[in-house]
Amino acid sequence: MKKTLLLCFCLLGIILNTSAQELEHSHRFNRKIEFPNIPGYRTLKCDFHMHTVFSDGNVWPSIRTQEAVKDGLDAISLTEHLEYQPHKDDIPHPDRNRAHNIAENSVSPEDLLVVRGAEITRSMPPGHCNAIFIQDANLLMDKDPLTVFREAKRQDAFVFWNHPNWTSQRPDGISKLDSMHHQLIDEGLLHGIEVVNDVTYSEEAFQLALDYNLTIMGTSDIHGLVDWAYEIPSGGHRPITLVMATERSPAAIKEALEAGRTVVWFNNLLLGKEAYLQPLVQSSLEVTGAAYQGKTIIAEIKINNSSDADLHLFNLTDFTFHAHSDLITLEAQSETTISVKTLEKLENFELKFQVLNALKAPKQHIEIILPIKIEEN
Ligand code: ZN
Repeated sequence: MKKTLLLCFCLLGIILNTSAQELEHSHRFNRKIEFPNIPGYRTLKCDFHMHTVFSDGNVWPSIRTQEAVKDGLDAISLTEHLEYQPHKDDIPHPDRNRAHNIAENSVSPEDLLVVRGAEITRSMPPGHCNAIFIQDANLLMDKDPLTVFREAKRQDAFVFWNHPNWTSQRPDGISKLDSMHHQLIDEGLLHGIEVVNDVTYSEEAFQLALDYNLTIMGTSDIHGLVDWAYEIPSGGHRPITLVMATERSPAAIKEALEAGRTVVWFNNLLLGKEAYLQPLVQSSLEVTGAAYQGKTIIAEIKINNSSDADLHLFNLTDFTFHAHSDLITLEAQSETTISVKTLEKLENFELKFQVLNALKAPKQHIEIILPIKIEEN
């Protein structure tokens, strides 16, 4: 009897232990990227630069759509190099629209929007550019790059400059405009710039985006597998562009891109124009509890972070954080309790923070204010 009881306890222990591990496992491996909407707009998760075997990538187009669905993306574009086709002996395909057509047929629009794109692949200047929301990639084949950009405009494309900091084309890694880029911008042929490409971030590209009113873009430019490149099973994520759109449709995404309503998420860093970045972080945070501990002047404040970014905050008030330094981290998809010593008992007060991993310009952080109302006991 005793032995049976012991066995039961052991089994129960194993079951409880396993379910706890599974719970932790499922939390850590929930890879769908989540960010809240901001007032007036839906926050759509997009990756508009990627490759398949139809140019120099290593996977079939349907793998790209499946990866994107797993990541919870709203929209992607397959941007095959028009002029660089290293697999053409094995996969002969004169039609430059083929990868897009396969991808689009592999997924329902409710699960993922696939917008038609292509990569105009030239030496510097102008370097590589993606044209997305095009009608026909085959018409973008011409020796003269300006002719191609004008055709993209005729097709009403949104065009952005890829990896302007790419050391193969800019040995110093510094993004700068050549006269051809000025011409493209002046003629309305270039609308955005990659501030983030794959594993690189360009402060100069960020500044160019602000100076020339180009849309801030961040993309994976994935050639292999997203899981391997960004170590998704260990909690990594691909770089994406968050697009603030009026609705989840290709037309609304294009309108938002043209209006510059984007935030880039890269390596747990958020980059964007203040008008969209600030509300994104503000909307991610909700004060879920505020009460003094007994007769003390130490308030326990509960803050929920509904975004996928760990937010690193620096205290800008005169209050001290009783159990922390001035630097706190609000972990992604979690509630954090901070103890705030308010120096006197208050009914209402504000917490003010600098957000160390949210940049509105190179090396310039946004600030957020959280109004606190103490609950009555
Ligand atoms: Zn590319």
